[in-house]
Amino acid sequence: MSEPIITRAASEAAPDAGAPLVDPFGRAISYLRVSVTDRCDFRCVYCMSENMTFLPKRDLLTLEELDRLCSVFVRHGVRKLRITGGEPLVRRDIMTLFRNLGRHLETGALEELTVTTNGSQLARHAAELAACGVRRINVSMDTLDADKFRAITRWGDLGRVMEGLDAAQAAGLSVKINAVALKGVNEDEIEPMLEWAHGRGMDLTLIEVMPLGEIETHRVDQFLPLSQVRARLMDRYTLADLPDRTGGPARYVRVAETGGRLGFITPMTHNFCESCNRVRLTCTGTLYMCLGQEDAADLRTPLRQSEGDARVAQAIADAITRKPKGHDFVIDRRVNRPAVGRHMSVTGG
Ligand code: SAM
Repeated sequence: MSEPIITRAASEAAPDAGAPLVDPFGRAISYLRVSVTDRCDFRCVYCMSENMTFLPKRDLLTLEELDRLCSVFVRHGVRKLRITGGEPLVRRDIMTLFRNLGRHLETGALEELTVTTNGSQLARHAAELAACGVRRINVSMDTLDADKFRAITRWGDLGRVMEGLDAAQAAGLSVKINAVALKGVNEDEIEPMLEWAHGRGMDLTLIEVMPLGEIETHRVDQFLPLSQVRARLMDRYTLADLPDRTGGPARYVRVAETGGRLGFITPMTHNFCESCNRVRLTCTGTLYMCLGQEDAADLRTPLRQSEGDARVAQAIADAITRKPKGHDFVIDRRVNRPAVGRHMSVTGG
């Protein structure tokens, strides 16, 4: 195998095809999350403000360009691709991207192609996702109460998401439910959601709210530390730590009483940056090396300026040399600004 390309300067020759991406802290980058649109058909209160300004369509990479960029990453050692957004399934013709990326699964270059979705469009896309080689999906859902669902998402319809879940499971997709734990909103629903998800054979992962982008509410009023939730769950359930890693930041436990798996994503109370293997690409071709930092690299220019992929591969390699050690999120009454200005919908969750 070729040497890692971390020390290569921008002016040097492009790295050999296949050179793995390893950052200055020795972390190999094997996971790319791709936000294919900044638009969403929901306006979750912790994610977006009600009046968002979205990118003009001309700024977006085409599906062909996204495919090309993803393929460069795959050639350089990315084994897992997650398509996200915004809401990825609202992007026009998005299944073309899944179909095309599926070729990397067939060759074995890619281990996993997956998607994070709010589930609103899942009923019509689930079967085709499975046909493209997608095996597991994440569906974001913070409550089982239809009125509360509408209040959290502002625009969402829980019934449609439930139909999407039915379609996904009927298509053979394994589903993980992601729920953001929100103080005073869904904290009383964690146990019912756990029983419901595990009863349907789905994992549940709880996520701490992160200070990303300006919203109408102070983050302190939303933030529920998962350390508290875990302690409370342990009064009622037997939680056994699992070594399982699904490539992401979640830590899992087996819940003895339900037999199901419960994940915790705790960027606030306990971050796991030391094992971060991820970078994030936006729909404009901007690469963020960390969800919680502002530094980014423009990949659209080198992509559009050359037909071959050497320049873009070099731009990626250079960006990886700047991957920071970690984020430093703070949610504090005295701090009333987000850690980074962009909303989660820009970088993709
Ligand atoms: N629309 C898709 C969905 O709903 O899953 C994909 C994009 S959405 C931004 C990805 C995930 O980020 C969702 O689970 C959402 O709940 C979560 N999310 C959004 N803003 C967040 C924040 N500020 N803190 C923590 N999680 C957030």
